[in-house]
Amino acid sequence: MSVIEGKRIAIIGGGPGGLTLARLLHLQGADVHVYERDQNRDARVQGSALDLHEHSGLAALKAAGLLEQFWSNYRPDLNLLRLADPQGNILHEHPRATSGEHQRPEIERGPLRDLLLDSLPPDTVQWDQKLDSAQFSGAQVALQFAGGERVLADLAIGADGANSRLRALVTPICPQYVGVSLVEGIVPDAKETVPALWSLLKGSALIALGSGRTLGMGTKPDGSILFYAGLKSSDAEGRRSLDQAASPEQRIAWFRTNFPGWSALWEPLFSTAASLVWRPLLVCPANQQWEAKPNVTLLGDAAHVMPPYAGEGVNMAMLDALVLAQLLAAESNLAQAIAAYQEEMLARMRQMTEDTMMNTEMFYAHNAADQVVSLFRSFANTASGEDTSRPAAQL
Ligand SMILES: Cc1cc2nc3c(=O)[nH]c(=O)nc-3n(C[C@H](O)[C@H](O)[C@H](O)COP(=O)(O)OP(=O)(O)OC[C@H]3O[C@@H](n4cnc5c(N)ncnc54)[C@H](O)[C@@H]3O)c2cc1C
Repeated sequence: MSVIEGKRIAIIGGGPGGLTLARLLHLQGADVHVYERDQNRDARVQGSALDLHEHSGLAALKAAGLLEQFWSNYRPDLNLLRLADPQGNILHEHPRATSGEHQRPEIERGPLRDLLLDSLPPDTVQWDQKLDSAQFSGAQVALQFAGGERVLADLAIGADGANSRLRALVTPICPQYVGVSLVEGIVPDAKETVPALWSLLKGSALIALGSGRTLGMGTKPDGSILFYAGLKSSDAEGRRSLDQAASPEQRIAWFRTNFPGWSALWEPLFSTAASLVWRPLLVCPANQQWEAKPNVTLLGDAAHVMPPYAGEGVNMAMLDALVLAQLLAAESNLAQAIAAYQEEMLARMRQMTEDTMMNTEMFYAHNAADQVVSLFRSFANTASGEDTSRPAAQL
């Protein structure tokens, strides 16, 4: 008999990690529900496209029986990453591998969420359920939602992202601010609004680097450009200065102050963006450890958030889901399955987090452009010519 048979399973968070786990457990016949704070499935899922990797994100989708749906929805046009200096001079063009073991096909977050949702029975996801707090209640976990509902679960999994509410039940260790924040903006109808930048992207993606700052951008299927301006800053002061930049002129002034010496080429991004959102980057300690609890655990960003400079966050979230589902199917005891999952996950994330933090240092070094271009050239010089490493997320 499976350890999850007859158990009521609650997954908090319907992101890629939580929904992948829900699908894999559904295939095992589990009684599983996902509690998601978004109001409904039509809530717009925003953010950069995600590149899935053969041995993690794609492996999880394969186990979920959803590879065909993935290939019907991926973005073959996001196959080129251009690296530029702060003046907009192209330093290197990196073609993405689109087949073979080291492929990194890109998919938008919305279609990824949709294909996972479509694979689940309709009532699996409980929308508009924001977890407020959780506590142990006998052999169960009591989940208190912001709208007033209280749910008792035999097994609770926190897949609720970087600011997880379930995490406190598992460990007192909190994610820390890494000292770098991103300013996110989206420019609608970019071909018309920012034609010079639209041409520079060649329909794909670009990262400009220099003087301890980054500016990453990518095209979206609706013709917009999503961009992330990254800088080292105090969280509170940076947020305040951005909030004060309301008009297009003030936003340009903000850019000039915070990106000194950068070309005016980039300014229209800031003046025409629909909004500018401050996003502080967090990281969990690489060597974090905690005692496994018998009926609650974490996965994805809730367990091990890190900056996006290795392009591994979603891949690790989906691999966590795969490993956990496999152990729940294989082990004869629920507590043992959770302990074995956590041991594998925490050990895997130790190296991944260290590598990611080294990449983050590199991207914000004074000579970042030289370092990152050399890194990307080294991929091109491998015998196979394939991208065999963990380069930055394609923003
Ligand atoms: C700018 C940027 C670019 C990135 N690019 C890449 C990339 O190219 N490749 C890559 O692998 N990773 C990338 N990442 C990282 C990636 O986005 C995350 O690692 C990934 O989304 C984690 O998935 P998750 O399911 O664990 O969490 P999330 O995607 O954060 O999903 C969490 C879900 O939980 C819900 N939720 C949150 N709180 C509650 C609550 N209290 N109650 C109920 N529901 C709740 C949220 O609404 C959400 O649906 C990037 C991140 C950033 C910031």
